[in-house]
Amino acid sequence: MNLLQDKVALVTGGSRGIGASIVSRFAAAGAQVAFTYHSSREKAEALAAAVSAEYGVTVQAFQSDAASYAASEQLVSNVITAFGQIDILVNNAGITRDTLMLRMSEEQWDTVIENNLKSVFNLTKHVVRPMMKKRKGSIINMSSIVGITGNAGQANYAASKAGIIGFSKSIAKEMGSRNIRCNVIAPGFIATDMTDELDEKTREAYLSNIPLRRFGEGTEVADACVFLASDMSSYISGQVLSVCGALNT
Ligand code: NAP
Repeated sequence: MNLLQDKVALVTGGSRGIGASIVSRFAAAGAQVAFTYHSSREKAEALAAAVSAEYGVTVQAFQSDAASYAASEQLVSNVITAFGQIDILVNNAGITRDTLMLRMSEEQWDTVIENNLKSVFNLTKHVVRPMMKKRKGSIINMSSIVGITGNAGQANYAASKAGIIGFSKSIAKEMGSRNIRCNVIAPGFIATDMTDELDEKTREAYLSNIPLRRFGEGTEVADACVFLASDMSSYISGQVLSVCGALNT
């Protein structure tokens, strides 16, 4: 089913992990996809070529730092020049700088807030105007269940992810009259480079708490994105969808 036929999507942080799965699933659903990376140029170019060849849609990688307001403005302009429109924005780019509060530096706090939360403002700010002109749009912001529950050693990350939820609900209320929807996905533990950084003991502890008894796959988060990006979810806005194997219920 080509749920995203004739739509153009912009996905931040599409070179690896969950973002790469979103790029692939969106293309499989018929969308044309622009996606960003920060430093993984080779991975990004290879992904764009492979996904484009597999699904016969345009897929293009753009180097852009989501934490930069100016770069985000330029990116949106470049994508509109290349693709003509943006119907779907997925703010997926994110980083961790985990440590306990007693050890957390100002730099670790600021970097996570800028990359995870300010980035969502940067991109949303620049896509809403073109979406308003079309009187249609779907914005999907990648939070985390730790933005709902909190997590020891992740005060910076959890704060950024909780901020995304408040931001997204506000955008849903502000932009609803223009038919722009804004929703949040809150993944639990998904097998990516980000979770590969966890030590074995921590992984086992998390695993024993997940009712489905496994980490999720990037494609399982991506499928939720396809739903929220498509007209299948046309009356859903301002919501947080947990994709977490029932870890957070
Ligand atoms: P990942 O494998 O570490 O990949 C992160 C992606 O974000 C990469 O494509 C990276 O680009 C990009 N990125 C990072 N900073 C960026 C910036 N400033 N500008 C542009 N791109 C940037 O991460 P992931 O596990 O797939 O996570 C994706 C999202 O899901 C994140 O927001 C994360 O917080 C959230 N999440 C993940 C999990 C999980 O268990 N994995 C759980 C909950 C929420 P480069 O390749 O160029 O570095």
